[in-house]
Amino acid sequence: MRQTELFTKTRREAPKDEISKNAILLTRAGFIHKEMAGVYSFLPLGLGVIKNIKKIIAEEMEKLGSQEIIMSTLQNKEIWEKTDRWSDEKVDVWFKSTFKNGSEVGFGWSHEEPIMEMMKSHISSYQDLPVKVHQFQNKLRNEVRAKSGIMRCREFIMKDMYYFALTEEDNLTFYNMVIEVYLNVFRRVGLGHVTFVTSASGGVFTDEFSHEFQTICESGEDNIYVHKDGKLALNEEIFNDKTLEKLKVEKSDFEMKKAAEVGNIFNFGTKKSEQLGLSASNSNGEKKPVFLSSYGIGVTRLMGTVVEVLSDEKGIVWPKEIAPFQVHLLVLSDKVRSFADEIYQTFISHRIEVLYDDRDLRAGEKFADADLIGIPTRVVVGDKALKSKKLEIKDRATGKTREMTIENLIKELKG
Ligand code: ATP
Ligand code: MG
Repeated sequence: MRQTELFTKTRREAPKDEISKNAILLTRAGFIHKEMAGVYSFLPLGLGVIKNIKKIIAEEMEKLGSQEIIMSTLQNKEIWEKTDRWSDEKVDVWFKSTFKNGSEVGFGWSHEEPIMEMMKSHISSYQDLPVKVHQFQNKLRNEVRAKSGIMRCREFIMKDMYYFALTEEDNLTFYNMVIEVYLNVFRRVGLGHVTFVTSASGGVFTDEFSHEFQTICESGEDNIYVHKDGKLALNEEIFNDKTLEKLKVEKSDFEMKKAAEVGNIFNFGTKKSEQLGLSASNSNGEKKPVFLSSYGIGVTRLMGTVVEVLSDEKGIVWPKEIAPFQVHLLVLSDKVRSFADEIYQTFISHRIEVLYDDRDLRAGEKFADADLIGIPTRVVVGDKALKSKKLEIKDRATGKTREMTIENLIKELKG
């Protein structure tokens, strides 16, 4: 895409009301627009990142054999009453409204109850199980604090997946598979080195339990305790003498770190199906409540976390797999414009996603914007390229520069 055609503008100054690094950089670089506290719109560059994160998650969900759906945002009060989660005392993030006829309606902050209800139309026997479904959906939550940019929003994109199983064993096997798949997602978005699985029950398997995926990050709202071996991490809630003794580890070997919860998975056992009446007959014809586990990833929080963790003093540093473009092509003068146009067409014909800074601006401004936007590979076409036919390539993450022909660069990008 030509940058002269991109409607978004970069800004030198951070908006005064933004205090979090992710919101400051994403706004300055033109990825997001703030509508109000905790509510953001995603602009072309931001949407590009979201699409790439979703693609990674979708590929990993496909490995698990999950089918994609989209459930509605408007939700039925009666369904939530069955599990006693309609009242504001029980769930403090509800947005609610009323229909013209006076009856109440909820805005989805989660979809566990509605999907259980829906599955009553599709699950009745063991032959129908297991069922795996997921969705990418905008969740609405009336959060008290919304100061962390896109990391804690009142409207945000979540991937939620649900697993319906006949047996506890099957449910648990799948649950453990998801842990591995989730770690893969976090590796692919570039956060593998700082993301830990923590257990909210300290590894004690009860009827109901959950695990969190925590990414070490200064602006995170949670505290986790990371063991010096770099493999084990514990939640603040369970970091006590009893748990440490059970795990046979020393308190002094742990260090407290701030972390952001990028994913959360739950095993509900049969509790919810008992409350909502979802059962399946087994091979002996006996009706059994269905086991449920649910699996969330905060898509937009994940994007914000990448910015928090990987950016530097000049701007954002996108990992290749989620960058909005692979190459940022900069033309530095009119003398080389037609040469740069050719390079641009060459990238396109090789299906390499390229943002072409064809604006009539000083080189310094273009460099600063390229650093701010954070595309992994910067390609500069300056006057000397005309003669040498070599391009100046700069890696955004390492800052290393090299000279290369377009042919070799394309080979490298494709390889
Ligand atoms: P938190 O503990 O951060 O409030 P949660 O435990 O309520 O989150 P879940 O209901 O498990 O969150 O949602 C699944 C995932 O959705 C979380 O792991 C997180 O990544 C993301 N998420 C939750 N709340 C928000 C929010 N307000 N803004 C952005 N992402 C969110
Ligand atoms: Mg949580």
